[in-house]
Amino acid sequence: MSLTVVGSVAFDSVETPAAKRDRMLGGAATHFALAASFFDDVHVVGVVGDDFTAEHESVLTSHKIDIADIERVEGGKTFFWAGRYHDNMNSRDTLDTQLNVFETFEPKLSEASKNAETLFLANIVPAIQLGVLEQCEKATFTAVDSMDLWINIAKEDLLKVIAKVDCIILNDEEIEMLTGKGTIVSAAQALLDLGPSIVVAKQGKYGAGVITKEGSFWLPAYPLHEVADPTGAGDSFAGGFVGYLAAHPERPITLEVLRRAMAYGSAVASFNVEEFGTDRVSRLTGPEVVARVKELAAITQFDDTTQVDLRR
Ligand code: AMP
Repeated sequence: MSLTVVGSVAFDSVETPAAKRDRMLGGAATHFALAASFFDDVHVVGVVGDDFTAEHESVLTSHKIDIADIERVEGGKTFFWAGRYHDNMNSRDTLDTQLNVFETFEPKLSEASKNAETLFLANIVPAIQLGVLEQCEKATFTAVDSMDLWINIAKEDLLKVIAKVDCIILNDEEIEMLTGKGTIVSAAQALLDLGPSIVVAKQGKYGAGVITKEGSFWLPAYPLHEVADPTGAGDSFAGGFVGYLAAHPERPITLEVLRRAMAYGSAVASFNVEEFGTDRVSRLTGPEVVARVKELAAITQFDDTTQVDLRR
């Protein structure tokens, strides 16, 4: 069993009201792969420059993540992103995006990456997502993430990708923007009509919902005392969610399995934001994840079987 992810491998500079860190290892594929590596063998498809060192590589390889399909461009520079968080730590401004080696990236997949049963198309140019989707004919579960930038400038390609995948994972604003609908529920229904059978709406620090034709499930984010750096929370969530589904290959996927996948995604994402960059998730252990999932179950359960005499 294995899982392939295509997306950004990056250097991130992040500023929060409390602290600032420069050129940390980041990128959507990096955060996703670290989270998914709890559940399956992960192959990362991406591109870096020669500023990407053995130390950066070892963050991934130390968790048995296969980096054979991370192309290295001699003389090139790795994708760079810089962002600043607002006081509420939920919204941010992008200060800088330097595509660098990403600009001419054409993924060439090894047999191992092509043969994966599960495929995740992390946030990247939709035309590249489409190319990878076409190379991974054996995948029995495919999921896609995107962002406002591609909805604005490459919507047609993005819709082609959406028509071909099983699951779409976007944040609430992006889902509404993509469909032109004013609520998550109506936007998700519109997306279900476009192809995918599963829609996940991430709502930042408020949690996430999963919507299918069978029904829906909503989970708050794990309540933390402090958040150090929310960058990559969405990708860690997706890594836990898709990773859990990869490890539970019974198809079709039931809402029961999706509820648990949501809990694992939320648990890993909550660890991700406790420290900057990949610091926390790279030393996270399986028992810590399981314990947090149990806590999430405990704090979201209630008993509705006792009768109350309502007065009207
Ligand atoms: P998230 O906080 O889950 O939205 O993910 C943030 C990650 O996405 C950071 O590590 C960035 O390196 C990466 N990222 C930011 N902008 C882009 C972009 N235009 N394309 C691909 N990856 C990006």
